[in-house]
Order: sequence, then C-alpha cells, then structure tokens
Amino acid sequence: MADNPNCHVDMEDQPKSSENNGNSAGKQRVIELFHISGAQNSLGSKDSISICPLKHLPKRPAVDIEFSDVNYSVYDGRIKGNKTILRNLKGKFKSGELVGIMGPSGAGKSTLMDVLAGYKTSGLTGTVMINKKIRNLRPFRKISCYIMQAGQLLPQLSVFEAMTVAANLKLGKSISTKQKKLVIDEILETLGLTDCMHTRCCHLSGGQKKRVSIALELVNNPPVMFLDEPTSGLDSSSCFQCLTLLKSLSHGGRTIICTIHQPSARLFEMFDQIYTLSSGQCIYQGPVHCLVPFLGSLGLQCPSFHNPADFMMEVASGEHGCVQTTLAAAVTNSPILKAGVINNDGPINNSVNIPNGICNSVKRTSVISPMSPTTLFLQSNDSLSPAVPDVTPSTLFQFTILLKRTLLSTSRDQTLTQLRIVSHVLVGLLIGMLYYKIGDEASNVSNNAGCLFFTVLFLMFSSMMPTILTFPMEMAVFIREHLNHWYSLKSFYLAKTSADIPFQVVFTVVYVCIVYWMTNQPRDMNRFSMFLIITILTALVAQSVGLLVGAAMSVENGTYFGPVTAIPCVLFSGFFVTLNAIPSYLQWLSYLSYIRFGYEGCMLAVYGFNRARLKCSEPYCHFRNPEKYLEELDMADTLFWVDVVVLIIFFVVLRIVTYVVLRWKIHSWT
Ligand code: ADP
Repeated sequence: MADNPNCHVDMEDQPKSSENNGNSAGKQRVIELFHISGAQNSLGSKDSISICPLKHLPKRPAVDIEFSDVNYSVYDGRIKGNKTILRNLKGKFKSGELVGIMGPSGAGKSTLMDVLAGYKTSGLTGTVMINKKIRNLRPFRKISCYIMQAGQLLPQLSVFEAMTVAANLKLGKSISTKQKKLVIDEILETLGLTDCMHTRCCHLSGGQKKRVSIALELVNNPPVMFLDEPTSGLDSSSCFQCLTLLKSLSHGGRTIICTIHQPSARLFEMFDQIYTLSSGQCIYQGPVHCLVPFLGSLGLQCPSFHNPADFMMEVASGEHGCVQTTLAAAVTNSPILKAGVINNDGPINNSVNIPNGICNSVKRTSVISPMSPTTLFLQSNDSLSPAVPDVTPSTLFQFTILLKRTLLSTSRDQTLTQLRIVSHVLVGLLIGMLYYKIGDEASNVSNNAGCLFFTVLFLMFSSMMPTILTFPMEMAVFIREHLNHWYSLKSFYLAKTSADIPFQVVFTVVYVCIVYWMTNQPRDMNRFSMFLIITILTALVAQSVGLLVGAAMSVENGTYFGPVTAIPCVLFSGFFVTLNAIPSYLQWLSYLSYIRFGYEGCMLAVYGFNRARLKCSEPYCHFRNPEKYLEELDMADTLFWVDVVVLIIFFVVLRIVTYVVLRWKIHSWT
C-alpha cells in the first residue's frame, strides 16, 4: 500500500466495508443492486418475470443449469484410448444459488467448470440443459461470464478506466456516458472499490484484483457466473468478503458456480450447494448442511469440531478408505439428499422432515429491487430482445475503444515505451560516436556498411523482443475478454496492430535521425526518406515476427525461439557472405531473410542511385565510386522498390499468419 497513494482503504488489510463490519444494510444493498428478474420470490416460485413491483424491471432470465451423463476425455498421447477426466456426472445448479465445486487437486473441478461454461466441447458426451432446453452455446456464452483464477487485468489501466472500457464494450453505444458512469460508480461502491478507482491495476492487492475481475463482468449483469478458485491467494478476511459478495450476487437471482479448494468451516457454510468430485466422479452433491448426515449415513462419521469441508476432502482423497465408488452410487439415491434438495427447492420456511432432523431448511432471500442505474440500463435495452438484451457494438466501435485502450496502456508501459525510447537514443548516440562522420569517406566504406548493418540488426531486435515479452500477457487478457464476449478477435487484432505502428515508427525515426546525421550519411532528403522508409519497414516486419512468436508460444519459449530464428535471417542477409557466394542449394534461404532486404535497401539508399564519388583522405581509395562497392556486394543490379515491396509483403503475410494463429488458439480453448 505504501506505493499506492490513491488507495487509502485496503479492505484486505483494514476491513471497513459494509459487508465486513456486519452491516446488513450493506449486504441488502448488494442484493438489491444486482437483482435479476426471476429470482426466487417470497412464495418460492420462480419464473422469468420480475418480482419487483416496478413494472419495467428487466426480464433477464433466471438461468438453471442441468447436466446429465457428462463424460469428458482427452487424448493424452496413449496408443490406445483416451484419458477420461469426468465420468457420468449429473447435477442441477439453480439460479439464486451459490454453488461450490470441491475436490482434491486433479479431481476435475476446472474441467467440469469449463464444460459447463462451454469452454470445452470436444471429447465431451452427455447433455447440458439451460432452463430445461439443450444448451445453445452461443447465446449461453452471451449470458454467462467466466472469471479465471489469475485475474488477468491490464496493469497500466486504472480501475475506473478498465471499468469504462468494459462498460463501453459491453453496453454499447445506446447507453449514454452518464448512465454508464452511474453503473460503474454503483458497482465499484458495492464491491468496495471506490477508494481504489483511480489506482492502476498493477498496484492493487490480490483481493482487490479479484473484485475488479468480478466488477468488470458485472457491468452487463450476467445471470450466470463461473469463477475458478475466486478465493485462492486471499487471506481469510478477503476470502470471506469475496464469498459474501458472491452469495449476495447469487441471492439476487444469479447462478454462481465456483471451484473452491479447501474452504474454512465459515466459508464452507456460505455455499448453498456443494458439488464434490473425486477422480472425475461426483461423490457428493447437495446442500452444505446435508453433507455430514450424508457421510454419516454411509459410516463416515465426521469427528466433532472437525471442519466438514476438510473431512470431505479427506474422504475424496481416499484417506478414509476407497469409498469413492460407494459414495458416487449413494449420491443419486440418498434419502437425506433428496429431502435436503426438496427442502431447498420448496417454499421458504416450509420445513421438511429429514432423517435425524439434522438437515434443516435454508431461508432463501427474496429481492424487491428499487430502480438503480444498473437496472435502468437493463430495462432500456430490454426491447432489443425479450430474453437477453443484445447490445453488441459494431466492429468499428469495438476497434475504436480497443485502439484507445491499447494506446493508453502502451504509452504508460515502461518496458514498451520509456525503456525503449531511452535505449534507442543511447544506442543511437553510441553508434553515432563509434562511426562518427565516416559515411562520406571512401576509405571507410566497409566500416560504414557495418554501421548500416548494425542499424538494421538493432532495429530488428529492439522491435521483436519487447513484443515477444509483452504480447503473451496481453493475450491472456484478450482470451479472458474475448471468451466473455466483450469483442471480436478482428477488433482486438486490428486495434493491437494499429496501436503498435506509431510507437514503432517514432522509435525508429529517433534512432535513425541520430545515427544518420552523426555518421555523415548523404545530406539528401530523398536518400534520408528512403533510408527511413526501409528501416521503419524492417522494424515493423521484426515486430510482426515478435507478434507471431508471442501469439504462438509462452514468454519462456518465445525468448529462446525469437533470437534463434533471427540467426538464419542474419546469416543470409548478404553481410557476412555475399549473396553470390552462398551455395546454390541454400540460396532460397536468403529470400526468406527480411534482414537481407532491409540491409540491401539501406545500402541502396546510401550508395545507390548514381551517388557522386566519395571523398578520399588517403592516397588511394578503392571504393571512391560507390557503385563499385555495391557491385562487390552483388547489390548493383537490385532495385530499391523491390526491397520495399518485399518487406511490405513480409509484414502483411506475418500479420495474417498471426491472426490465423490467434484464431486457432481461441478454437483450441473451446
Ligand atoms: P482440478 O481443477 O480438480 O485440479 P483439472 O480439471 O484441472 O483438475 O484436471 C483434472 C485431471 O485431468 C488432472 O489429472 C489433469 O492432469 C487431467 N488433464 C486435464 N487436461 C488434460 C489434458 N489436456 N491432457 C491430459 N490430462 C489432462
């Protein structure tokens, strides 16, 4: 917190929120704000009509998820057969409930969530029903959101800026900026983030990051929320806050499903339903308070003062014997669970006799919502579709928002901008001093060629490496947002490509200006412009290579693979071995080296186009005629415009290939 002057109240360190200090009015406010029509009403009935006395509340549907016979297997390199991860799973998650998926590590929790959220479809058998109809993936993905474990946020944006982008992308143009601001303010206030709204995401604490991830998705009020381990990495107070929030949201009518690793007894009690997995099988599903009686009925007595969640985990891990198969069989027929489920489904306060009288009914909160900016928005868009308001903005609008965001984020990024501009200036000065005023000297022609070659090389590495290092992180944010239907891949990619170009151009211009003038290259505007064009194109091609590597692989692999692929480009550039000296069976490789075209273009801009004889400060200079030196390098017959066109082709092809790789990655995620 010390480095974060904007954030005066850290809820993790100093609990002050209404939820935390036990102010029930605060909790009620959460419930009211996020009410979804169709939440269980006070009579226990459920429909798609709002229970709110105000007539025009949104008709966002309450969404029940039911699945049966779900089997999921993957090919894991075996010669015969696949690895089965989920086995014959069956269950029902109802709106208004907070559902926890539990189980030991590797039990299949994340896989089940991915399957239910629609992120894993191949290798899947069985049915997933939404409100008693077979799930149609596209509309379902629009009404649900998936909040991943590592809350991927753009570090350079403040909470408010991130929320504004989310509001613009998710609510579209039809909502006024004022209304969007009201929605944002209200969500931030409810989630206890108002004090941190101007803090950059990189300075937020773990708990605040989680809440921002939730806040971003709440902007369009999705009825179904999946959260992968929302409490992991949080201290007990933050865990409690996080689950209190989720519980309030669920009781506002949402279906909230989250995986949870090892909750404390206090956190465990907050769930309405628990779904426990062991080796891909369901060994318990039902209300929290029925767990101990259920296990007890099978001879698994939870010791007194023992956390039931811990006991369940011990059972699931096989510490109390190989009872998983027995539990999996019992879970479908258990009278305790049947009674517990009826009790939870039935009218509030209507007690049902449960064996041993242990499994008591749970009161469900009904919600009467006042008008709030959040609900106002939903209402105003309801006319677009009676069930799910479709406010997807146009590709152009998405592009504009994303372009602004990328420009803002990049300009604030120290690695991508400040460090790079400083390194371009420093290296430019160093090269300028090393090759000081050699450009028009005939006795230094080969040294000058070295200077030009180094210029191309420096621009190549300085464009490629930062992209390889930073793009995978942006990719993670993109995948989260794209899978949550914020925008299309096309909009993201166009914005990313367009936002990168101005920065790259500025860096190259700064470097070239310093080097060109310090090393006394020809004082001719045409030649300078040609030199600038060819170096900018080389840098953009190198950046495209970085994008492709960054899109295709992790940072670790990319930092190795990027420079390694650059080696053949450098070898076949014509600097170390003249192009004619390359063995004929390897000559085709020189056409794949964009460095060759960059270097050739630089040499032609400086020495080509009938440049006048150079001055010679020694008794004899062999290369006083620059044409002679180009002949020596087998460049006399080459054309400058061909180099330009080839580099443009490289640029376009690489950008298209990167797009295809991103498309493929998205598909492989789903
Ligand atoms: P959990 O979330 O419960 O820790 P996961 O759902 O991530 O577990 O994984 C369940 C099991 O499936 C693990 O044993 C994991 O190794 C295996 N698994 C997941 N994906 C693959 C895959 N693509 N290939 C092989 N095994 C996989």
